[in-house]
Amino acid sequence: MTDVFIIGKGPAGISAALYTIRAGFSTTVTGKDMGALGKADRIDNYYGFAEGITAGELFENGIKGAERLGVTVLSEEVLDIGFADGAFKITTDRGLHEARTLILASGASRKVPPVKGLKELEGRGVSYCAVCDGFFFRQKDVCVIGNGRYAVSEALHLTPTSAKVTVLTGGRELEADAKELLEEAVKNGTENLFVENAKVSEVTGDPMVERVVLEDGRSIEASGVFIAEGTASATDLARKLGAAGPDGKLMLNEDMSTFVPGFFAAGDCTGGLLQVAKAVADGAIAGTAAGKYLRSIGKKA
Ligand SMILES: Cc1cc2nc3c(=O)[nH]c(=O)nc-3n(C[C@H](O)[C@H](O)[C@H](O)COP(=O)(O)OP(=O)(O)OC[C@H]3O[C@@H](n4cnc5c(N)ncnc54)[C@H](O)[C@@H]3O)c2cc1C
Repeated sequence: MTDVFIIGKGPAGISAALYTIRAGFSTTVTGKDMGALGKADRIDNYYGFAEGITAGELFENGIKGAERLGVTVLSEEVLDIGFADGAFKITTDRGLHEARTLILASGASRKVPPVKGLKELEGRGVSYCAVCDGFFFRQKDVCVIGNGRYAVSEALHLTPTSAKVTVLTGGRELEADAKELLEEAVKNGTENLFVENAKVSEVTGDPMVERVVLEDGRSIEASGVFIAEGTASATDLARKLGAAGPDGKLMLNEDMSTFVPGFFAAGDCTGGLLQVAKAVADGAIAGTAAGKYLRSIGKKA
């Protein structure tokens, strides 16, 4: 049994671990891969790196720092979580772990729709992050693939700087809360945001994205395509503990605690600004709150 188990070894999970281990609590972190940093190239907007830093280096440094302080860092994939006999039970692809507190820091789910050209043009006009990459498409036409609130909110990060932003729903209706967000933006004066419901067959361009081809034969000129499908997969896990609302979103208090005692969340999986700085801050808050909770129940593994 560990005091703290953290799902996710990205900036949020590792930051949380630094706080729990330094507060004297045994801490285990697991992550199946590099998460969002695995898709990023350079990080130029994080405090303290005069020349920026590669995403890979930032990820590795984070883990090394945590291990130096005594955190156990695993590479197991979490398949299920539950609570029984006073402990969280975490089932991974390698076995079962038990913990007194659990911090979910599993990042945002970035589902890639099965559209030809998306994978090939990743980093060459295809992006997963409007706030990170929107800057590169100033005064250009861009598309956002997705039909949920996340897609519209990504689109709204782009409208102030891009010439025209088209949300491609891929043959689906825009979800109700996404529609609401879009209508509110239009009411508030956003004029360059459009919705296209036709299915997308291909994204083309060489060497950079040039257009999106629709299944009905039409095409849309675009310099950038942002993928914003689905919502954070963390909600699937949170639901298992009753920490997600009926809309699937994590219900959180200010200290990143959920309504389930001992269960916290941090980073991209909690929504809002999907950036390293916010993930690290969330992790610090969640880690501190987990330590406070452990002290309040007066137990130590
Ligand atoms: C292309 C791109 C460019 C970006 N550029 C920037 C930038 O320039 N500046 C900036 O500040 N931010 C940037 N970001 C965003 C930044 O990478 C994220 O905000 C940050 O990494 C979020 O940290 P996190 O710890 O919440 O999640 P992540 O870094 O996504 O980490 C999630 C962790 O959870 C693990 N995980 C998920 N599910 C499971 C499971 N079931 N079992 C076990 N482990 C699991 C993953 O393997 C991973 O270890 C960029 C993102 C992308 C995609």
